[in-house]
Order: sequence, then C-alpha cells, then structure tokens
Amino acid sequence: HVPTAHTPEAAPQLPGHELLYSGKVRGLYAPLDPATGQRDQERLLLVASDRISAYDHVLDTPIPDKGSVLTQMSLWWFDQLADLAPHHVISTDVPEQVAGRAVYVRRLRMLPVECVARAFLTGGGLAEYAATGTVSGVPLPEGLVDGSRLPEPVFTPSTKAPMGEHDQPISFAEVEELVGPRLAARVRDLTVAILQRGNEIAADRGILIADTKVEFGIDPAQLGLGDGADEEIDWASVDPDVVDVVLADEVLTPDSSRFWRASEWAPGRTQTSYDKQVLRDWLTSPASGWDKASDTPPPTLPDDVVELTRARYVEAYETLTGRPFTAGTPA
Ligand code: ATP
Ligand code: MG
Repeated sequence: HVPTAHTPEAAPQLPGHELLYSGKVRGLYAPLDPATGQRDQERLLLVASDRISAYDHVLDTPIPDKGSVLTQMSLWWFDQLADLAPHHVISTDVPEQVAGRAVYVRRLRMLPVECVARAFLTGGGLAEYAATGTVSGVPLPEGLVDGSRLPEPVFTPSTKAPMGEHDQPISFAEVEELVGPRLAARVRDLTVAILQRGNEIAADRGILIADTKVEFGIDPAQLGLGDGADEEIDWASVDPDVVDVVLADEVLTPDSSRFWRASEWAPGRTQTSYDKQVLRDWLTSPASGWDKASDTPPPTLPDDVVELTRARYVEAYETLTGRPFTAGTPA
C-alpha cells in the first residue's frame, strides 16, 4: 500500500516561516517571530521533501515518506554519533504540515568544505585511482577494483559548489588553505571517525556504507560574530579546541552516502544501490522509453517502481535502527 503522494515541490509555503533556500531535495526556512515578523537568528527549519534524484535529474514523481525516513534516520545517527561530535538538532516539534520530515536546528556558519570520506572505492574515487593510483592524493595499494574495501577510510574533500554546479574534489592542502590547518585536521578526523563508526554499526545489520558526505558548522556566537549572515570569517584563526565543531545538515542517509547490501557486495563490478537500484533499473530499461544520455527529463515513475523504492527506504531505516517506521512521527 502506497500512501497518497503529497506535493512534490521541495519547499512548500509554511506559515510563520520564511523560505531562505530551496535545494534539490530540501528547503531551509527561518522561523519568524509571531509578534514582530522578524527572522529568528538562532534557529532554522530544515525540511526534507519526498523528491528523489537519479542520473543527475530530480524526478517529478515523489517517493512517499522518503523525506520522513531520511530525517528520522539522520536523527537516529546523530544519537549514535553524539560522543564523536555535537549535532545541530534543537527540536523535532515542527509544524504539522512537515511533521516527521523536518527539524529545528541551530543556525550555524557552515565551513566552506564538503567533508567526504570513502571506505570503499567507487565513483569519483575510483576514477582518480585509475588515473594516478591515489585517492585525494593518498597513495593506495595496487590492484584495487570497483567496490574494493580500502585499507582504511580516506578523507576526500570537495568544494561546496553553488546550486546547480557539481562539487569539485580538492586536496587536503586546499582544505587547509580554506579553513586553516587546525580546523582542516579536525574535520578530516571527525569525518573519518563518523564513517568508521557508521560502518561498525551498519555492518552488524548487513549494510555497507561505501562513502559519505558530512558538513560542519560553528555557532556564530562562539566566533564572536553578530547577526549578519554575510560577515567574512577568518576560519584559520578558529581554534577547534575552544569552539564546538558541530555536525550539521543530514548524516549517513542514503542521500548523503552510498549504501550497499553486504550480502550483494562483489568487488570488480558496479555495486547494487540499496535504495535506488529499482529506480535505476527501470529508468535504464526499455520499459521507461528514456535515454539517460539524452538531455530530456526522466519520465513519470509507474506505481510499482514508486512502491518498491519507498519500501527500500523504509527497510533501510528499520534494518539500521531496529525500530518500526511510522510516517509523521518524530523519532
Ligand atoms: P544539494 O541539493 O546538492 O544537496 P545543497 O547542499 O545546496 O544542494 P540542501 O542539501 O538541500 O542543498 O540544503 C541544505 C543546506 O543547508 C546546505 O547548504 C547546508 O550547508 C545548509 N545547512 C545544513 N545545516 C545547517 C545549519 N545548522 N546551519 C546553517 N546551514 C545549514
Ligand atoms: Mg546538500
């Protein structure tokens, strides 16, 4: 049974909130003070939609409950990782319209780096390795193939590209230039530790997390900044032993990470995606009538593809957390 799909738009109008930013899949809102109409400077509402992307397209067919599953999975992970890093969540008591798929978070100044770590070789990491024998400049043993487990997780940072552009891989030295050597070392170590912990927990449940992207931010008050969101920050002067380096955004979800089923893992070929394989298989089959090499948008998904894909997300949540998924109920 598939619940009725609600609005496919990434960022609905929300009374009492101002939309600040609408990403491909999520929306970011400032709560407004009911008396003055002023923006809350300390909190943001982060809303995950049911939209799904594949082959670099956002599909026009939503996957019911996806935003809720991913939000609740992220909340569960924040708890599992709490001893490694503080997180940004303040409350799950959100407007009814977005219940279950939104969280109030501390409004942070985000470090200008996408913190990626890889535990297995594939995608962009594999392409670099094939060309140079390294990943993000780190030399690796010979003979690794698509899907190989790396001897240990490697930090492979990238730029935070503006909307619509692709993130570009950067070296650790470039991260040091962007945020200074102390913060660079801290976010590298945290990112690797998060992926390592994630895989320790997921392995017991039959899931491999091949790679992941996390984002960190710092409370502006701890940076000695006022309310102006545009103030230039001298990251290199920030001492990570003095301020909190806060884990923000979403964490260890299928949208920020590659999830593989451990039982299907077979290095030497492209691995099956835990969450998106049904969708990809249909999109690339004659049944869809779509050519992914063309620049036409993908077609509307048939109900069975929607239902099977929804089931994958729910299964990933339930398998990982050991909890039943209930739509709309905050974890
Ligand atoms: P993409 O669709 O490629 O992921 P995106 O990362 O720009 O694009 P979203 O992930 O939908 O879009 O948007 C989330 C945005 O919110 C990111 O820019 C992220 O840096 C920002 N963000 C997440 N948590 C916080 C926070 N606590 N304070 C301030 N900004 C945050
Ligand atoms: Mg993002």
